[in-house]
Amino acid sequence: MKVADSAGLPSNEPFNWHDETTVLHGDAALNADASVVPPIHYSATYRARSAAEFADMANTPRHPGFYNRYGNPVHKHVEAILAELEQTETALLMGSGMGAISTTILSLVERGDHVIAQQRHYMSTSKLFEEVLPRFGVTCTLVDQTDNEAFAAAIRSETRLIMVETPVNPTLSLTDLKAVADLARPRGIITVADNTFASPLNQRPHELGIDIVVHSATKYFGGHHDLMAGAVCCSQALAERIWPMHVTLGSVLSPMDAWLLLRGLRTLPLRMERINANAQAVAEWLETQPAIDRVFYPGLPSHSQHNLARRQMKGYGAVIAFSIKGGFEATSQFVSSLKLATHAVSLGGVETLIVHTAAMWAGTMTEAQMQSAGIEPNFVRMSVGVEHIDDLKADLATALAAIA
Ligand SMILES: *Cc1c(COP(=O)(O)O)cnc(C)c1O
Repeated sequence: MKVADSAGLPSNEPFNWHDETTVLHGDAALNADASVVPPIHYSATYRARSAAEFADMANTPRHPGFYNRYGNPVHKHVEAILAELEQTETALLMGSGMGAISTTILSLVERGDHVIAQQRHYMSTSKLFEEVLPRFGVTCTLVDQTDNEAFAAAIRSETRLIMVETPVNPTLSLTDLKAVADLARPRGIITVADNTFASPLNQRPHELGIDIVVHSATKYFGGHHDLMAGAVCCSQALAERIWPMHVTLGSVLSPMDAWLLLRGLRTLPLRMERINANAQAVAEWLETQPAIDRVFYPGLPSHSQHNLARRQMKGYGAVIAFSIKGGFEATSQFVSSLKLATHAVSLGGVETLIVHTAAMWAGTMTEAQMQSAGIEPNFVRMSVGVEHIDDLKADLATALAAIA
């Protein structure tokens, strides 16, 4: 599966390891010295020893040691592992998930093109399609992701790209990745999937025919709520189209965060195993609680697309959405009564986080205004961490009792 990097780095011996082994040894061919852990390369620029070498450094795409916006040696380690996890030829690291998404999309479309995206995306991704692209003459059709026919009906002769994201906020709706890929491939339409909510441990869009897989590496890959990073996993040919835009837009991942990301990745399969198990158990438990109204989790048979979830996912990830019986006040009280689950945005890290969405708008909107904007006052989103399941349940039970 390894293809020599365009920067001419040695390709790894072909290997067929399990993910647990890949995250530890998938970058071994890049080790340049005797250190077991690669050093942090904290240098913005790199010395050439001859005019010929200088020319070579400057003109080699994605050179790992020329100028830090072009690449960094530790980036190469992370990219080798991510490409293997997503089963793509290569990967590109960026400074954030939004950096990865906007750079990818902007490098692939131009004035006059038409693109298809979902009605629901990560909020900043929606902004890109609803507000930014139209300013540059790219038209967008937003479709109901749960309806394969809607994707088919939206295709025009000038459609160049389809963006999908699955599962997605707020109710963990899914997109049928294979159905979208099968529509796009024969027509030469590029497909991009945001795989952040699933992670490659749970879902591999490229194996289902999606061309480009993008990630907020801030979430599961980093895994400790301490860094921001983004990744694009794709073919060499697509990477060569995206990289020049990356150099232009400059969403660069710092050497320190790249190094922390590599460290986080070493335990990704271990963390995902616990996260999947904990979240499934919490979701099932929440469904039995009389104070809970509804629970949304792809791993629950009650999820409206559970069959699709079982077909395209191996595990269902950290994020559970649920609603409390009661209004804004009861939900607010529930969230502030929690001791373990921290009231904070983001997901996929070791600590359990919870968000009371309506609370973000409490200062500016009335309950009635929120309702008309589709922000349910009793809705919460939880990212289940790796704490002991009994402690998590006890924490939730105590907080639910506080509002009963
Ligand atoms: C967080 C997130 C992003 C944005 O990533 P950043 O690293 O915050 O820029 C994009 N998509 C999804 C699904 C996310 O959860």
